[in-house]
Amino acid sequence: MSSGRLECEVLVVGAGPAGSAVAAALAAQGRKVLVVEARQHPRPKACAEYASPRIVEELRHLRVPDAEWLANARPLAGMRVIRGADAVQIGYQDANGTRTAWGLDRRTFDAALAAHAVAAGAQLRERSTLEGLFWRDGRVIGAHLRTPEGPTDVACQVLIGADGARSRVAQLLGVERPVRVPRRLGLVAHYEGIAELTDHGEMHVGPGWYVGLAPLPGGSLNVGMAVPLDGASRQPAAERFEAAIAGIPAVAARLAGKRRLTPIRGASPIGHRVSRAAGPGWMLIGDAAGFIDPFTGEGIYRALRSARAAAEALADGDDGAAERYLAARRGAFAAKDALTWLVQGMLAAPPLMGYTLRRLAERPSVAARLGSALGDCRPASDALSPLFLARVLRP
Ligand SMILES: Cc1cc2nc3c(=O)[nH]c(=O)nc-3n(C[C@H](O)[C@H](O)[C@H](O)COP(=O)(O)OP(=O)(O)OC[C@H]3O[C@@H](n4cnc5c(N)ncnc54)[C@H](O)[C@@H]3O)c2cc1C
Repeated sequence: MSSGRLECEVLVVGAGPAGSAVAAALAAQGRKVLVVEARQHPRPKACAEYASPRIVEELRHLRVPDAEWLANARPLAGMRVIRGADAVQIGYQDANGTRTAWGLDRRTFDAALAAHAVAAGAQLRERSTLEGLFWRDGRVIGAHLRTPEGPTDVACQVLIGADGARSRVAQLLGVERPVRVPRRLGLVAHYEGIAELTDHGEMHVGPGWYVGLAPLPGGSLNVGMAVPLDGASRQPAAERFEAAIAGIPAVAARLAGKRRLTPIRGASPIGHRVSRAAGPGWMLIGDAAGFIDPFTGEGIYRALRSARAAAEALADGDDGAAERYLAARRGAFAAKDALTWLVQGMLAAPPLMGYTLRRLAERPSVAARLGSALGDCRPASDALSPLFLARVLRP
């Protein structure tokens, strides 16, 4: 039995970057938006906290004042990808010149975006969890929530699932699909900062896993890793975390004597896949619509970009919005997905990764083009042409 009943035009589930962004954009269009968030901001999120340069454009598009997020962000020139003796510096350039990536504190970043959505006119209910959906004639017309005030039903015209990689909305819609590859466990913790590592991140590729080191605002360091998800392993997360660090000598040397400042947080498995990202009366955005792997560091940008695509699709009316959104997703993400899978293929073949890093280190302009495509600063298709791949791989 529900004790409460609410009404809105758009119900957004999840106040991570995707949910807060779409809520802010739709509220600015004059829609009556309710955002429900299972936790309470500021909340931690298992994330390596290294964001693509292009978040700047998305945040400006949302009219988030720079001061609201820059105070808790650290500009980073790029990422040094290292495998044994092979290393290459990945940086970013677009038509306006050199761009920086950003070291973010997800607790404050996500909280600031949620506050921005509220300032734009959205209603936010925290500690409120979506548990069920209501349907009429094949269309979602509402949801059932667990809230601090008790069970509550919400009627809505549109449902937006922005509830992350374990999306309950995707499960309830019946579109979640199993992730077969890559199957990885993500583990993250903050450490004391490293004096020699302040203006860029490092991605250390080991045999079957990788560890990223990303400087954070305030001087600490994010240590994030993805290790194979072995269903049979009963090893506690902390032991797997320490073993991965010890297994890459350069990482062990970097962290020697450094104190861990936070608990180890995990995401298992990292990836998420859906058969469809929109339908009659519903859309999935951010990780809820699918996530491959954090190696290429684009989840936060993608959350914001997909939120914009959803808000733009709805700006032209609810009818046909799902198809407009799916078309916009294809335009925005199809080439980047192909590039991400190419990089995943290299991660699965360490000798090829080593060979590629050596070639890229000898060819800075080729590395710059690849980095810029990975950082969403130029079309990913630029890094997928056979001619470009030949320039990367030729002996
Ligand atoms: C180990 C790891 C490292 C990563 N590193 C990076 C990186 O360096 N750079 C990068 O760009 N991306 C990275 N990512 C990906 C990035 O974290 C995600 O892409 C990003 O958080 C997606 O944002 P979102 O808003 O879609 O989802 P989330 O940030 O996951 O937010 C979803 C929200 O929904 C809420 N929620 C969930 N279920 C419900 C429910 N039933 N009812 C109500 N609320 C609910 C959650 O509490 C949460 O606040 C990493 C991911 C992992 C796992």
